[in-house]
Amino acid sequence: MYYIFLGIFWVGVYLALIMAPLVVLLVSPVPAGSGFWWDVSLALGFAGTAMMGTLFFQTARFRRASAPFGIDIIYYFHRQISLVAFAFILIHPLLLLTVEPSLWGFFRPAVAPWHFWAGVGSLLALCLLLVSSLCRKPLHIDYDRWRVAHAVLATLALVLAIAHIEGVGHYVDAPSKKLLWGLISLSWLLLLAYVRLVKPALLLRRPFRVTEVIAERGDAWTLQLAPEGHAGFSFQPGQFAWLTVWDSPFALKEHPFSFASSAEHPGALRFTIKALGDFTARIKEVAVGQKVYVDGPYGSFSTDRQPADSYVFIAGGIGIVPIMGILRTLVDRADRRPLLLIYAYHTWERLTFREELETLRGQLDLRLVFVLKEPPQGWQGEVGLLSEELLARHLPQQQNDRQEYFICGPVSMIQLSEKLLNRLGVPLSKIHSELFDLV
Ligand SMILES: Cc1cc2nc3c(=O)[nH]c(=O)nc-3n(C[C@H](O)[C@H](O)[C@H](O)COP(=O)(O)OP(=O)(O)OC[C@H]3O[C@@H](n4cnc5c(N)ncnc54)[C@H](O)[C@@H]3O)c2cc1C
Repeated sequence: MYYIFLGIFWVGVYLALIMAPLVVLLVSPVPAGSGFWWDVSLALGFAGTAMMGTLFFQTARFRRASAPFGIDIIYYFHRQISLVAFAFILIHPLLLLTVEPSLWGFFRPAVAPWHFWAGVGSLLALCLLLVSSLCRKPLHIDYDRWRVAHAVLATLALVLAIAHIEGVGHYVDAPSKKLLWGLISLSWLLLLAYVRLVKPALLLRRPFRVTEVIAERGDAWTLQLAPEGHAGFSFQPGQFAWLTVWDSPFALKEHPFSFASSAEHPGALRFTIKALGDFTARIKEVAVGQKVYVDGPYGSFSTDRQPADSYVFIAGGIGIVPIMGILRTLVDRADRRPLLLIYAYHTWERLTFREELETLRGQLDLRLVFVLKEPPQGWQGEVGLLSEELLARHLPQQQNDRQEYFICGPVSMIQLSEKLLNRLGVPLSKIHSELFDLV
């Protein structure tokens, strides 16, 4: 209930932020209208700019604001609302040019005032931003390079849009409006400064050190970290943090990883990382003593948020990590609630945490079901992909309201599991998924 009220509060704050520039337009003296479509076009321009300004609010990762939703929902919202903001901002000049064709004459550098070019520049930056974000994977743009370009283009688009509105002046030139508009613009720029400067500076002052590097089965490595010169932070089991390993927090080279360690031991954080790409393939080279910056905790994938009488976990591959963090926490809390873990992997040999899971079986009321794609000879357990029959064989016979389901793994596995569980009568509200692919 607490998170529902908190969610409603933050949605209200967001709507207020979006509406603020439109309210400025309505503050007296209101300039005479220039026709319906002209006014619609200006309202769209202001609303689109306001949405753009508040996009920084979403990526600032304010923990209190993101807590009720989960960061994956915030990022999803960020993507969708960016498209709406872009559409508003694009329609703004198209409408003006349609209503007032003489404006086409401005497209000559000698004729147009500077604020016209500021508007054009903002729109071009937004176009580049959109194409590079929507087509990053097909265009093979490296994530880290894309992220820097994204930050630069977003800043440029916003600053040029503010300059454009200031330059046009017509709607914000009365002293009261100048003040209000100035405050709104300043708040966006301060937000930007917080995201790009203040937050990294705060992280720099609270470093962690690697105290152990452990090789795990399945090309994965565990880093154990201890806070250096500060008390660290507490987290809920199943949550995640952004790690920066070889760079400064200003470099925008952070990667998200789930806490693999028990939430009862925040002084010894563990992250288990599978070698999959440029950054993760180098994790095995990390030396004990290496400085690491940890921005967290984030996420809503936690049993602490979903009180229940029993839990069912479904993990695929390295998706076992947050679930391992939950199981380790439950051991430390001497929890005796019934648990079922269905864990799908390619081979028995590479199954991450294999031995420890067997040990946990003795420490918790835990049933383990391993599902292997390529089983070894003589394998008696489950084989192949998850199916309705497989789940029906192992899920508790009695579905009840006090049972929650947690899924983490590849996107296709998550989608399949959600569909199968739902078909078996599990309401979607009882299913919680963690996607390892935010962007
Ligand atoms: C909430 C969450 C929790 C995660 N927990 C774990 C975990 O516990 N263990 C684990 O091994 N992996 C985890 N991941 C996945 C991990 O973040 C990526 O595998 C890693 O960032 C890939 O980086 P790379 O440079 O090695 O791979 P690349 O080959 O460069 O990237 C592969 C893909 O990973 C994504 N990616 C790359 N960099 C980032 C980034 N900085 N931020 C977000 N996405 C990125 C992009 O979609 C990219 O296309 C988690 C991901 C998320 C979103």
